[in-house]
Amino acid sequence: MEKQWHGKKILVLGAAKSGIAAATYLHHAGADVTINTGNIPPQEEQEKIQALGIRSVFNEHPIGLLNEADLIVKNPGIPYHIPLLQEAMSREIPIYTEVELAYRATEADFVAITGSNGKTTTTTLVHELLKGGERPVHLAGNIGFPAIEVATKAKAGDLIVIELSSFQLMGIESFHPRSAALLNLSEAHLDYHGDFKSYADAKGNLFRQMTNDDQLVVKRTDSEVMKRVPEQIHPSTFSFDDGDASVVDGWVTVRGEKIIQVNELALGGAHNVENVLAALLLIEPFHIPRAHIERVLRNFGGVAHRTESLGTVLGRSVYNDSKATNNVAAEAALRGFDAPIVWLCGGLERGADLSALIPALSNVKTVIAFGETAERFKALGESQQIPSFTVSTLEEAVPLAFEQSDKGDVILLSPACASWDQFKTFEERGEQFVKLVRSYEEANR
Ligand code: ADP
Repeated sequence: MEKQWHGKKILVLGAAKSGIAAATYLHHAGADVTINTGNIPPQEEQEKIQALGIRSVFNEHPIGLLNEADLIVKNPGIPYHIPLLQEAMSREIPIYTEVELAYRATEADFVAITGSNGKTTTTTLVHELLKGGERPVHLAGNIGFPAIEVATKAKAGDLIVIELSSFQLMGIESFHPRSAALLNLSEAHLDYHGDFKSYADAKGNLFRQMTNDDQLVVKRTDSEVMKRVPEQIHPSTFSFDDGDASVVDGWVTVRGEKIIQVNELALGGAHNVENVLAALLLIEPFHIPRAHIERVLRNFGGVAHRTESLGTVLGRSVYNDSKATNNVAAEAALRGFDAPIVWLCGGLERGADLSALIPALSNVKTVIAFGETAERFKALGESQQIPSFTVSTLEEAVPLAFEQSDKGDVILLSPACASWDQFKTFEERGEQFVKLVRSYEEANR
C-alpha cells in the first residue's frame, strides 16, 4: 500500500490537523514531503513539523514549489483559485485531499456520507448502528480523527464511516465507498464553489467509482440529488413520504419492513427522521442485528448542537440547534415540531433572504432575535403577525424565552446564521445556551 508513495515528491498544503497527519503518513511511507502554508502556523504545529524533519515553507505559496511536486495534497479549505493551485492545474499536477490518500492507505471498506445538512448526525448514527455488526468500525473525518490516521490503523475487512464535505470531494479520484449517501442539496458554500452546479457536482463526485454491487443512497424527492446518480446505477432511495425507506402509518419502514415507530425515535424532528431512513439504508449491506438497530434508534438523541434535546426544563422542551447556521437547517428544525415554538434566532449578517423561512413559521409563537441580524428576524416575525423581540445577547434571550413560553411549548435555539458576530464558534454559542438554560432552571425551580 505504502510503496506507491516511495520517492514521490509531494507538496502538502495546509498544516492543520489533517495536513500534519497527511505529511506524517507520507513521510513515513518514504515520500519526499514539503509542507506549505499561507500563514504562520501556531507554535505547536510548527514543533510537530520540525519533529518530523520535513521541509516547510510558511506564510506564502511560492510557485517555485511546483517544480518539486509530483502531487499535491491539500487542505479542503484552501480554494482552487489561489495562483499556486491554478498553476498546478495548468501543469496537470494531481491535487488530492486527504480522503483520497486515506482510501489508498487501507483495505478497509468506506461508508461515506455527504449532503448540505445532516452529515454529522447521520455519520454518527451510522457509526453507532454499525457497532452492532461483526466488522470492526471506525469513525473518521470532521468529528473523528483525521481520515489518514484512521485508515492506517484500520485492517482489511474493517469499516470506516466518514463524513465528507464538498471541499473534500473535489480532491478525490479513486475513492470508492462500499456504501454512500447524498442526503440533500441546498445552496451553500457558493463563495468557494462559485455556483450551485459546481457545488452539487462536487458532492456527486462521491458516486463516481460506485457500481451496482455497492449501496448508493439518495433522497428521492430532491431532484438535484437524483440528478447526481450515475446513469447505470440503481439507487436505494429514502424520503419521509416515499422510497425504499420511508414512513408508513407512523412507522419507520425499510423495503416494507416496519422497524420502529417514529414517536419512539430518540432523535427529534422530521429532518432527523430522514437522517434515520438514510442511515438504515446505508447499513443494509452489513447485516446488523435488528435488536441492536432498535436499541440505537431508541437511545441516540443526536449530536451536541444539532437539534440536541436538553430534556424538559420547567415544563418546556428545550433544544439546542446552534449548528443551524443557514436557512435550510433552521427551517428543518422549525418544521420538526408540532408544539408551539419560542424561536431564538439571529447572528452573523450574510445577506440571506429570510423570506425563505416564512413557510416554516406556522408553529412559531414568539421570535426572539439577537446578533447582527436581530432586526431583520424581528421584521420577519412581525410580517407573519408573530410577537417578536430583539435582544442584545443570549443572556437576555434565554430568560425572555421562558417568560414568553408556557408548559408544553418548545424553546428552540436554531439561529439560521453563523455565530461569528458574537461567538468564536457555533459550539461556543450552543454551550453558552445550555449553561444559561441550566442556570435559569436552577434559579426558578
Ligand atoms: P452537517 O454536518 O451537514 O452540518 P448536522 O448533522 O451537523 O449537519 O446538522 C446541522 C443542522 O442541519 C441541524 O442542526 C439541523 O437543524 C439541520 N439538519 C439536520 N439534518 C437535516 C436534514 N436531513 N435536512 C435538513 N436539515 C437538517
